[in-house]
Amino acid sequence: MPTFRRLPYVKPDFLHGHPISASPFETWMKQQSVATPHPRPMHLSVDWLDGTEKIHGLLLSSNSADNLSSTLRAFVSRRREHLNTAQSIGIESYKDERKNGRFGFVAAPEDQAKMQRFYEYFNDIFFCGSLEGLCAINFTDQPFEEDAKNVEHSSLALAYTPTTGPKHRVQIPDGYAALIKIRDQSRNSPLLDEETRSKRYLEALLHEMLHVFFGVYECLCSHACKCHHVEDLGVFGHGKS
Ligand SMILES: [Zn+2]
Ligand SMILES: [Zn+2]
Repeated sequence: MPTFRRLPYVKPDFLHGHPISASPFETWMKQQSVATPHPRPMHLSVDWLDGTEKIHGLLLSSNSADNLSSTLRAFVSRRREHLNTAQSIGIESYKDERKNGRFGFVAAPEDQAKMQRFYEYFNDIFFCGSLEGLCAINFTDQPFEEDAKNVEHSSLALAYTPTTGPKHRVQIPDGYAALIKIRDQSRNSPLLDEETRSKRYLEALLHEMLHVFFGVYECLCSHACKCHHVEDLGVFGHGKS
């Protein structure tokens, strides 16, 4: 399999999902924000030096929801020869690991390192690498708190992002902008076989990664921006329908 190295996005330092003051990331963010229009425009572009594709203009808490979703839609609607190298390799790696496991060994589905690898494949396939290194993933056998306001919920997984309320955001481990928690189904649902559980976890992972993408990059600075968010994504981030 060919190898591919993407130049990383800015390597941020985070505490409880927010950039650490005076970290290189925050300094860079300030420099960027001086002369940028609001919300910051972004688009897919290719670096002519090394052929790397990235989402140009993407910045923490700076982009509009409709620009974020239209760019992602353009990125994931491509097929076959229009895919970029990282996407093609991501798809191959995904298929290979689903079929053969890692190095020919299929681990139990409740494996954090395995989920982290699938996160990287999805990141290349669906997010143009924009979620690299931003998100920790944990399994938990605790039920999710019902009162967790401003936290994205599904029965199987949830995402804490920079826009999550402070009470819950503290759970995001240091160095990460977001946390995805997945509920361990191995004891709750003994009738589900490993393949079914794997499938459910991966579906939940991808769904939560979308929330992370918006939670990290969308601007919610003002009442107007929050209204845009609700118009474009709905109150719970799932669209209005
Ligand atoms: Zn959701
Ligand atoms: Zn704004």
